Order: sequence, then structure tokens, then C-alpha cells
Amino acid sequence: MKSLESKILNEGKVLSETVLKVDSFLNHQIDPKLMRQIGEEFAARFADAGVTKILTLESSGIAPSVMAGLTMNVPVVFARKRKSLTLINDLYSAEVHSFTKKETNEISISSEYINQNDVVLVIDDFLANGQAVLGLMDILNQAGASLAGVGIVIEKGFQDGGKMIREKGIQVESLAIIDSLAEGNVTFRKEGAL
Ligand code: 5GP
Repeated sequence: MKSLESKILNEGKVLSETVLKVDSFLNHQIDPKLMRQIGEEFAARFADAGVTKILTLESSGIAPSVMAGLTMNVPVVFARKRKSLTLINDLYSAEVHSFTKKETNEISISSEYINQNDVVLVIDDFLANGQAVLGLMDILNQAGASLAGVGIVIEKGFQDGGKMIREKGIQVESLAIIDSLAEGNVTFRKEGAL
């Protein structure tokens, strides 16, 4: 997606050969117009998948997911990283090792919001080693729901997650795929080349 790639080139900060900071439009400050375009793009790519719900992870997955949910006219559920006082009964939980924070979090959703009749699109901000997506898929398994596919705003194609999830036969749609962050430069994969 060209507008996303331009935004990454103009505002992204390469923190290391493996970490990109995009706090000015996705991870801290949010660019609503770009989020709307991102939501519409996810909706177009999964238009025929029969999606009934979107599942994401707090907090950075919420903005693109809500925009996709608005366009697709389906609710958005976000998994919580911390147990809330109000999130007590009938939880589905999974362990997720965070690539950026180097810690393991238990993520949870209430069983009330996803069930075996749901066809779920999983959305997240970044795809690195795939741990967050695997955790969300684990939760869907517990709920007996079907997975429609995975929508990712920024995939780091030089890490293993995308390959691992696509090898399971799952449709992964990433709106920008980065091939390298070497020497402080962002290099994108050409569209169509996976
Ligand atoms: P994975 O679980 O695929 O290893 O990592 C994905 C998760 O880690 C995302 O939910 C995202 O929050 C975070 N993440 C991974 N790599 C990056 C990165 O380069 N920049 C930022 N801002 N977040 C990242």
C-alpha cells in the first residue's frame, strides 16, 4: 500500500536492524485518515471471506481493526494483555512472548464475544516472529471459531512469522512488507513477490 510505505519512509525510525519505530502514526500518535485507508484495504482483501468478527491485540492493533470493522460492518474484539477486574469468568487465554518487550504476557478474551459460529479475521500492527498471531489463533481454537485470515499493517519479511503462518495454509495480507532495515534504511519487498 503506497500511502503506508511513504508514511513509513517519511516518519519511521529504524532503531536497529530488527526494530522499526512508527510512533508518529500507529504505535503512539495515530493518523486516523491512514487508519481508515488501512481498514478499507483489509476489508477489500478479505471481502469474500465471510468474516463475522475481527480479533486483535491491545493496544496498537485496535485502531486499524476498528477501521476495518467499520468498513466490513462487523464487531472488533481485542485481547487484553493484563487481567482486568471485570474480565473474570470464562476466559480464553494464551501465552505470547513479546518481540519488542522481551517478556511473556498472558493474553485473554472473554468467551462471551467469540464462539464456534464466528469466522474471524485476525489483525495486528506488526508481524515479526509470529508469536502474537499464534496466540490469537490459539484463542480462536479454544473458542471453536474459524480463522478467515490474518491482516498485518507492517510485516518484517526478514523475520520468520510470515513464512511460518503462510505455511499453515493461512491467508496473510500485509499492507507493507519490509525486506531489510540494514544500515538504517527501510527496504520494501516489491508487491506480488512473497
Ligand atoms: P511477533 O509476535 O510477530 O514476534 O511480533 C509482533 C508484535 O511485536 C506486534 O504486536 C508488535 O506490537 C511488536 N513488534 C514486533 N516488531 C516490531 C517493530 O519492529 N516495531 C514495533 N513498533 N513493534 C513491533
